[in-house]
Amino acid sequence: MGFFQKLKEGLSKTRESISNVFKVSEIDDDFYDQLEETLIMSDMGFETTEKVIDDVKEQVKKFHIKDAKECRELIINNLRDQMNVDDSAYDFEDKKTVVLVIGVNGVGKTTSIGKLAAQYRNRGKKVLIAAADTFRAAAIDQLKTWAERAMVDIIAGNEGSDPSAVVYDAVSAMKARNTDILLIDTAGRLHNKKNLMDELGKMRRIISRDYPEVNVETLIVLDGSTGQNALQQAREFGNVTEINGIILTKLDGTAKGGVAIAIEAELSVPVKYIGVGEKIDDLQRFDPGDYITALFADFTLDSDMDRIVNANYEEIPRDDDLFDIE
Ligand code: GDP
Repeated sequence: MGFFQKLKEGLSKTRESISNVFKVSEIDDDFYDQLEETLIMSDMGFETTEKVIDDVKEQVKKFHIKDAKECRELIINNLRDQMNVDDSAYDFEDKKTVVLVIGVNGVGKTTSIGKLAAQYRNRGKKVLIAAADTFRAAAIDQLKTWAERAMVDIIAGNEGSDPSAVVYDAVSAMKARNTDILLIDTAGRLHNKKNLMDELGKMRRIISRDYPEVNVETLIVLDGSTGQNALQQAREFGNVTEINGIILTKLDGTAKGGVAIAIEAELSVPVKYIGVGEKIDDLQRFDPGDYITALFADFTLDSDMDRIVNANYEEIPRDDDLFDIE
């Protein structure tokens, strides 16, 4: 199954509920109530849902829209405009960059690092991984497996060793080997804010002291199936560190999908990558057009939906050679 297909399938339940709302003949209070309930149920959050509904109501009035299907297109277009990811969001991929990957345990940090390493390598970058989550031996081993799979080098210490020492070694190696991108896996403990802040602060200081000219990008990994919790985690990490982008994982499972829209609307941090599975090629750049299509399009209506799908969806390029590795 292709990437878009997996995304489409993952979000199919939410898409069905949304489609049902638009099956009515009249745009009235009941319709708006149904729409509101469905969007909130999709993990879009109260605040974002209210904003979407207010915008739609205003436009329905302004353009004298009577048909619920036209109303759906309005929402699709509104969200697409709102969620445009700035092209510069990915500039870091072409600079010498240290990517600090943060997030609580279990969200898919290790997996996402492995997938990103493979993609960057596939594009001709020299990639290095650092296992700076030294609290769990299993995490170090898992990252080593991913490094092997992605065919990139890894710097790892022993369990319980100082994460900063690993970062120090990794940054030295990055300079010595002329590495393009260093991906650092950090420990995912949120319960002690001060520790977390100290640890991330220390890592940043080592990087800027030992390699002042390198670019630093901080990406937070969030589990899309945890809905509003994911949003809360992003807020809490955002209180202790600057975040440049989000990796939203597990959109192939029970995720309802609205959380990506809530994140964009409420945090003003762009979702940069999304994950739709456990395989090496199951992570791609986030394409808001595809995403909104996967969430809102009624694929049973070929006439109007074909237009939306064909106009906005382009096959995501991939290099099959690399992704044959299992
Ligand atoms: P970490 O603790 O944050 O490093 O999380 P891991 O990378 O170990 O991932 C936790 C679990 O989630 C593993 O079983 C992964 O295979 C799984 N996982 C990660 N990303 C995805 C995804 O996009 N979709 C699915 N279905 N599973 C994922």
